Amino acid sequence: MLEIEELSAGYDRLEVLRGVNITVADGGSVVVMGANGAGKSTLCRAISGLIECRRGAIRFDGADISRVGTSERVRRGIVQVPEGRQVFPQMTVKENLRLGGWIHGKAKEAALREIYDLFPRLEERQGQNAGLLSGGEQQLLALGRAMMGRPKLLLLDEPTQGLSPVAIEQVAEALISIGRRGVSILLVEQNLALAEAVGRYAYVLETGRCAAEGPAAELLSSDVVAASYLGH
Ligand code: ATP
Repeated sequence: MLEIEELSAGYDRLEVLRGVNITVADGGSVVVMGANGAGKSTLCRAISGLIECRRGAIRFDGADISRVGTSERVRRGIVQVPEGRQVFPQMTVKENLRLGGWIHGKAKEAALREIYDLFPRLEERQGQNAGLLSGGEQQLLALGRAMMGRPKLLLLDEPTQGLSPVAIEQVAEALISIGRRGVSILLVEQNLALAEAVGRYAYVLETGRCAAEGPAAELLSSDVVAASYLGH
């Protein structure tokens, strides 16, 4: 579904990603780990189209999308849950969700029903301002808002940042339910518990290159990988 081949990307003169190769199969669930500054957020930005692909290629559903704009990538099914959640605190839960469905016009109400079925907690709180939700609930809202775009591939940039262990478990359950619905997941994450719970295949990014890859259960439990690349 997603094939990233020899991708290089960065900012001005700074080359952050230097020949990255990552594949996400249809319905697959892939986690990318790496220490601070390894280039994880930069990878997300390159996939969603927020920064340009300088060299290499990004293919999605067989088509080269390296030069395709961000909104067209969303239309094709790549939806990102931004780092830091970025819900609108003065808007209600329902209003936040409806924003995520802009792409579907009148089909929004059906999408909203699906989100409430997936996350009943959001239906309970639908009339409340998003700013009143706990950090974990705000992350569920950010997930729900992204799911309103009916993604084929959900891209997540460190969804556990600042969350309690209980909230992290809720995010893990939510992502597992989303995966069961056939949505492919690319999770960029430093939290080992979430990475192990969600990822089936894992990559370790080190200073802009893939330093290791393998089935998540094996790779992430390897002491060598933990000590060398993840700072655990
Ligand atoms: P973290 O876990 O700390 O968020 P990361 O693995 O996501 O780290 P990136 O945010 O992709 O890493 O940053 C990789 C490098 O790119 C860093 O050296 C960072 O300073 C630089 N960088 C990130 N964003 C920008 C930007 N907007 N402009 C210039 N340099 C940037």
